[in-house]
Amino acid sequence: MDLKFETSYAKTRFLDPFREFQTTELDIETRRCPLSGDTARVLRFRARPLGPVDHSLFIARSQERPCPFCPENIERMTTRYLPQDLPQGRLQRGQATLFPNAFPYEAMNAVLVLGHEHYLRPAQFTPELLANALTLAQEGFRRLAKGLLYASLNWNYMMTAGAGLVHPHFQLAAGRRPTRFQAELRTRARAFARTNEGADIVASFLEAERKDGRRWLGRLGPASWVTPFAPRAIYDIMALVPGDKGLLDLKPNQVERLAQGLCRVLAFFESEGVGSFNMALHTQLSAGAGLPMMLRLASRIDIPPMGVDEINYFEKLHDEMITFLPPEELADRLKPHWAG
Ligand SMILES: [Zn+2]
Repeated sequence: MDLKFETSYAKTRFLDPFREFQTTELDIETRRCPLSGDTARVLRFRARPLGPVDHSLFIARSQERPCPFCPENIERMTTRYLPQDLPQGRLQRGQATLFPNAFPYEAMNAVLVLGHEHYLRPAQFTPELLANALTLAQEGFRRLAKGLLYASLNWNYMMTAGAGLVHPHFQLAAGRRPTRFQAELRTRARAFARTNEGADIVASFLEAERKDGRRWLGRLGPASWVTPFAPRAIYDIMALVPGDKGLLDLKPNQVERLAQGLCRVLAFFESEGVGSFNMALHTQLSAGAGLPMMLRLASRIDIPPMGVDEINYFEKLHDEMITFLPPEELADRLKPHWAG
């Protein structure tokens, strides 16, 4: 059975003071994503360019006190695991270090410091650095999330996206139960399989998006990348891995390809002036748990000239997103960065 990419329209009219009070008629487009059930309104306004990424304020603030994640402090200023849980206290791989989150919100909750650099612009993250971090995250889940099924690897990049520190770090979370978003994904995947002779919703979704082409970016190793039909942010970019796979199933070369995709998105973000974003990689930790593997990067921008937060009451309290950058246009802008 085909997935339904639902769109509905409502018309609205007003007398426009900027056009000598002529009647202006606008279409309000509402979309529902067949994969996640997310609802988003896509408006078509011209927005000003965001301007260059500038984190000087955050960097200056971060220099007023010692950074616990910098190499000279990490040993004495970050948490350690109990000896019975992890004899060496922390996990290490290359320049990356993993330790318990001092402000936990999930049964297994760890912080993963990516490297020695205190600050990196989005375009400065390399595939090597990110692949190393993803590989350490795999090890972290394997060793410290035993018996837990539903996990995520998360990233708040910069203070305006919820980061507590400038120094680049991921957060690992794993629990017995999926989060609300994960539960919805899982429920929909299972319902789709039930009514379609066991078919994989992610494979069907990707097939539909590849055929349609307007939001399709391409396949890189295990993951296919698209701009979501019903976005959760103005800049929302998604990678999906079909076939009952999770982060722990990816082989080293597949992890490298995923990191490569991430780097392309980050370089694109910087070129567009997106200097603040959230990332979540949703993953099951064992086969058959039913949670599709989805990686999502969502902007957290301020809209010029007033610096208006892209999140407003609609997203915060209605659980719907309004965007004025249609995902098809976002894909068109991203495609040149995707080649190569
Ligand atoms: Zn630092």
